[in-house]
Amino acid sequence: MDICVHCGKFATMYNSSDQPVCKNCFEKKPKRYSCKKCGAIMIVKKGKYGSFWGCIGYPLCDNTVSLKEAFLKTKK
Ligand SMILES: [Zn+2]
Ligand SMILES: [Zn+2]
Repeated sequence: MDICVHCGKFATMYNSSDQPVCKNCFEKKPKRYSCKKCGAIMIVKKGKYGSFWGCIGYPLCDNTVSLKEAFLKTKK
């Protein structure tokens, strides 16, 4: 299962950028998360075990971050 990129709760839908969000966060601006390795933006990709953040520079940069890890790091 995926967690909301904004609040960390259960995601029940996806926003315009295909990021998992809960109902309350659906109207929020898509989350921006940048790659710590190369500085490019990261996008949500769907994998076998759920969604994760992957660098847009893939395959030149193979950095990935789990939704949970990214959420905890960017939490205010
Ligand atoms: Zn939310
Ligand atoms: Zn990168």
